[in-house]
Amino acid sequence: MYFDVHNHLCQYKNPEEIIMQSKSIGVTIFAVSMSLKDCLRTLQLAGAHANVRAFLGFHPMHVAGKKFRMEFLEKVDALLEKQIHQVAGIGEIGLDKYFFKEKNFDRQLKVFDFFLNKAEELRLGVTIHGKDAEREVFQALSTHDIHPIAIHWYSGPEDLLKVGVDRGYFFSLTPAIKTSPKHRHVAEFVPLDLLLTETDGPYKFRDEHGRKTIEGVPMMIPDIVNEIGEIKGKDFEEVRTQLAENAKKFLK
Ligand SMILES: [Zn+2]
Repeated sequence: MYFDVHNHLCQYKNPEEIIMQSKSIGVTIFAVSMSLKDCLRTLQLAGAHANVRAFLGFHPMHVAGKKFRMEFLEKVDALLEKQIHQVAGIGEIGLDKYFFKEKNFDRQLKVFDFFLNKAEELRLGVTIHGKDAEREVFQALSTHDIHPIAIHWYSGPEDLLKVGVDRGYFFSLTPAIKTSPKHRHVAEFVPLDLLLTETDGPYKFRDEHGRKTIEGVPMMIPDIVNEIGEIKGKDFEEVRTQLAENAKKFLK
């Protein structure tokens, strides 16, 4: 069994096809949400397919954008209450200073805190985006009692990577493990029992010419497992088993 622990399933042109292909090779998908619309669609997909688990949350880029309204929090709160039996975790949530710089950062902080409180109250794990705001993200996480925590596609400073490992955070690795030295370093540094695999699909990864043409799909997960095995000098089956055990901590 494999796990794609961070996938924007509802954003594919044909999610059903992705789900069927994943099922055929034994990939369980943790489907994350970026908006209220995503949350509703993700719940539908998880309700209809045993290999899909729903994560609800608002992405910081959505929160910082023009169309966001604070009233959306009441709506997602009601959804969490009503559908809690179908919710496996909270995400994609976090803070971002990369795509939107400091835009609406106060609002990002408020919404992030709202979801961290929900995760704590509902005893759910979280999947976190923190691009260029890693310090603020780690600070906010330290004030909550949440397990497990998955840091998605980490690209922040070295000192915080160490802090994350010391605190027992999981770090999820994407297909960029093949092309990005920084991402490979995360795989080298973080112990195997704190690693996870993800594709962030349908995000497009770089091909050998550096062009973003390769759509992330759960079928890439065995390749990532293989790559981690090579980096760690461990055999495929041992790595696959440990990574599956790590992911199952979200499914208590
Ligand atoms: Zn994502």
